[in-house]
Amino acid sequence: MIEVNHLSKRFDALTVLQDINLRINQQEIVVLLGPSGSGKSTLLRCLNGLEEPNAGSIRVDNILWDDSMNAPTRKKAIRELRNLTGMVFQSFNLFPHLTVLENVITAPVTVKNMPKEQAIELAESLLDKVGLAEKKHEYPSRLSGGQQQRVAIARALAMQPQIMLFDEPTSALDPELTGEVLSVMRQLANEGMTMIVVTHEMKFAQEVANRVIFMSEGVIQEEGAPEQFFVQPQTERARKFLRQMA
Ligand code: ATP
Ligand code: MG
Repeated sequence: MIEVNHLSKRFDALTVLQDINLRINQQEIVVLLGPSGSGKSTLLRCLNGLEEPNAGSIRVDNILWDDSMNAPTRKKAIRELRNLTGMVFQSFNLFPHLTVLENVITAPVTVKNMPKEQAIELAESLLDKVGLAEKKHEYPSRLSGGQQQRVAIARALAMQPQIMLFDEPTSALDPELTGEVLSVMRQLANEGMTMIVVTHEMKFAQEVANRVIFMSEGVIQEEGAPEQFFVQPQTERARKFLRQMA
């Protein structure tokens, strides 16, 4: 369970997220949409502890970050949020000097102190799940973009997160490679993973999301089931956004 209350984030004078309130249930698949600069990445980065909000609270499972906590307690919460949430970026961000297998085992071994043999076993099963078992000893530079992104998904899953956050995971890929990444994401959704996905793949949103959240200018403008949002958006901003996507 994810709960965000009255979350705000500023960069200097620029308010990027304003009074965000959000509840995401276990196994829910939420697609986050909105124009460029509306704050989608910043929201995911706050949930993942890559940015610290200026105000409000975030709860993931039993970890709470709250603006009223003192600085060391907030810092600890941020670290714990990072371990509970798996993030997949547009640009893969694999460690180039490590093999596929080493990429996947690093966080569980170093952050969670998982015994190496156990981490390797877990990594092998995750690489098998994303269809890359036979690439485990390759370096990222020898993989296609779609393969690299599937490794990035396996790497995030290796921390056994409560929720997976995807920030435009297919936007950097050639069109013929997006399908293999989307199909891994569909499979995760079917297995009951809780997910927030920022994507331009409207077909994926329509078919996989339980809920669509539409943001603009740092504010959640509306949210609803995909059947409702795509057919009958409530706000003019969302209508305009959908016209531009079409
Ligand atoms: P896009 O669809 O283009 O990825 P987005 O909805 O993900 O956009 P964000 O990346 O969250 O938008 O950015 C929201 C606003 O915050 C933008 O105006 C951006 O310039 C600003 N911003 C983001 N990160 C920083 C930062 N580290 N420092 C200053 N401003 C930032
Ligand atoms: Mg973004």
